[in-house]
Amino acid sequence: MTPFVYTANPVRVQFGSDLLKTAVAEEVTRIGAKRPMILTTPEQESDGRKLAEYLTAFECSIFHGARMHTPVDTTLRAMEDVARRQTDCLIALGGGSTIGLAKAIALRTDLHQIAIPTTYAGSEATPILGETENGVKTTQSSPRIQPEVIIYDVDLTLSLPPALSATSGINAIAHAVEGLYSKQANPIISLIAEEGIRALASGLPQLINDPANKEARSNALYGAWLCGTTLGAVGMAIHHKLCHALGGAFDLPHSQTHTIILPHALAYNAPYVSDALMRIGRAMGTDNAPLALYELARSLGAPTALKDLGMPRHGIDRIVELTFRNQYWNPAPLEETRLRGLLLRAWEGQPPV
Ligand code: NAD
Repeated sequence: MTPFVYTANPVRVQFGSDLLKTAVAEEVTRIGAKRPMILTTPEQESDGRKLAEYLTAFECSIFHGARMHTPVDTTLRAMEDVARRQTDCLIALGGGSTIGLAKAIALRTDLHQIAIPTTYAGSEATPILGETENGVKTTQSSPRIQPEVIIYDVDLTLSLPPALSATSGINAIAHAVEGLYSKQANPIISLIAEEGIRALASGLPQLINDPANKEARSNALYGAWLCGTTLGAVGMAIHHKLCHALGGAFDLPHSQTHTIILPHALAYNAPYVSDALMRIGRAMGTDNAPLALYELARSLGAPTALKDLGMPRHGIDRIVELTFRNQYWNPAPLEETRLRGLLLRAWEGQPPV
């Protein structure tokens, strides 16, 4: 067996249904907090207010200004409220954007975080934070960033629109795919990653046909947890780096970009990652994992072409240049011709080769 190092992130997880009414208060009490602050986006403010109704035993406040890409000015504004209300615990109710805000505040204050994810992005399970300042997104990792408690309540995902469910779910699968061929890959994380892919690949098609199907939603949320855990435990490679570069350079939407790039990134690495291909194939019931991921996206009605997200064709040159400027570890060597081919196929929406 290949030697490995495995570090477990300490986190307490509650998973189930109808948890908002009791589990959140239970966790706030367990932490010993008295003045929790609920964080949401403007779109999910009413969900935050509903949660506050279950927390009347505490001096609860709400900040509903969470935004995409965790802008530092939003964090500083929220921190003024944190100081004024003497907040002693953060409750993030939402997707990666809201959880990112809680992480950014926790990084600066070391406040306890209770994350209640409502998408499949997986940020709640990682000690990683990406923040934006003056148009530049930087990523860092610290134990302070990792939420101490995660509450997965399937009921909160029922309202996630099918289109976003599809791309958010494939965004999660991307964490597991790259975790399987990570430089830090290890047997425990590989088990978790494979099971995460299996749960999402079976849950997503069912929930797209029937968004209120709780069993399918539970499967997808369970998969999202496993895939997020993978992202939090091992380093990523070309797929995540390309998506980061594309998002930053052309302001492309996060989960849609992941959905488009994933089959092509896996095809690029395929000759070097036979064990990962075998495991992904086993989880998805296929012997052509890159094509199966492309077909999964198509069958869910998700976008498959970067041009449809508004990226200009000449943007391919910029991404190639960025990739060679900030080189990183990847199982397959970075070669300009192959990279250009990957990006062109993803831009046009062709199947991976
Ligand atoms: P998001 O949090 O930006 O949410 C998108 C929109 O959907 C928001 O308007 C939100 O309010 C709404 N929404 C969320 N859940 C909903 C629900 N159940 N019903 C109805 N509407 C809902 O999207 P995301 O994809 O979860 O997060 C993307 C962000 O997370 C990116 O900035 C990305 O960089 C970050 N991220 C970070 C990590 C990490 O480990 N640091 C991991 C994954 C993603």
